[in-house]
Amino acid sequence: MTELRFNELRGEQVDYAIHRQERTFLPSREHCPLDPTLPGRPPTEIPFPSFEIAVFENRFPAFTPPHGAAEVVVYTPAHEGSFATLTPRRAEDLMWVWRHRYLELGARADVDYVFIFENRGVEVGVTLHHPHGQIYGYPFIPPVPMLELAADERLGGCAPCSLLADELRDGRRIVYESPALVAYVPFAARWAYEVHLVMREHRPSLAACEPQELGELAAALQTLVRGYDALFDRPFPYVMAVHQAPTAGWSPATAEGRGELGAGHLHVEFYPPLRTADKLKYLAGSEQGAGAFISDTLPEESAAVLRETIVRAG
Ligand SMILES: [Zn+2]
Ligand SMILES: [Zn+2]
Ligand SMILES: [Zn+2]
Repeated sequence: MTELRFNELRGEQVDYAIHRQERTFLPSREHCPLDPTLPGRPPTEIPFPSFEIAVFENRFPAFTPPHGAAEVVVYTPAHEGSFATLTPRRAEDLMWVWRHRYLELGARADVDYVFIFENRGVEVGVTLHHPHGQIYGYPFIPPVPMLELAADERLGGCAPCSLLADELRDGRRIVYESPALVAYVPFAARWAYEVHLVMREHRPSLAACEPQELGELAAALQTLVRGYDALFDRPFPYVMAVHQAPTAGWSPATAEGRGELGAGHLHVEFYPPLRTADKLKYLAGSEQGAGAFISDTLPEESAAVLRETIVRAG
């Protein structure tokens, strides 16, 4: 079904999932595959007339067992809306679903890294508008988490802990704070409105969080996304990436202390492609050919605007 090839020149794995060419592309409203299956109507991906949160294997998977996993997480049976408009209760339940998938997929021998993410908006290639996210279980540790592990080495300890301390000391780029979490535009952000939402305590993964922290995480994510939507008064496209400890080396037998194994510090990164209400940041020559980001906005300035908008959007 899929084939992994190692790109020697770049030192990275490339996944060939050719069948994905046929995947459903922006179906009409009445043919949404993520709606519940209603009596007398054609079946959707979810064979129930109602549900709370649904998780199932992607029909067009980038990874399949025994070489990883690809799952779809449908946030709500309601077709309209977004992560921001879920009830607070539903958003909190979603954190527990994520935690459950992290533990279950992480325990598999063919999953070295559980990656929870959401693509929002056609600008980042969304093919279905129904509120949903995805989870990939990679059969290897992908380059970005590897870079974060390398940052731990370079800083001689947990990089997110140390960067969070720096941001709190400086203060200019912080956009949101709660007892358990801090959100900021990073000192060297790649995207104009990039935000990292970081647990204050060193929590390697969702599995290591207190229930209270999971509730706060849901609330912080919703507050942040509402602020994004208010920024240009339009649904704000983004890629949301949940980074946690790798699960390489786990086995079902090592259930004890799960989530504590391996380095990592739970945080959520948002990469929004918009620079203004109608201008997109494209990855062009320097970014693609040299791997060097050029930004025309200062993180301190976008943080000030975003901070104000988050307060206003409540
Ligand atoms: Zn739908
Ligand atoms: Zn840490
Ligand atoms: Zn990260």
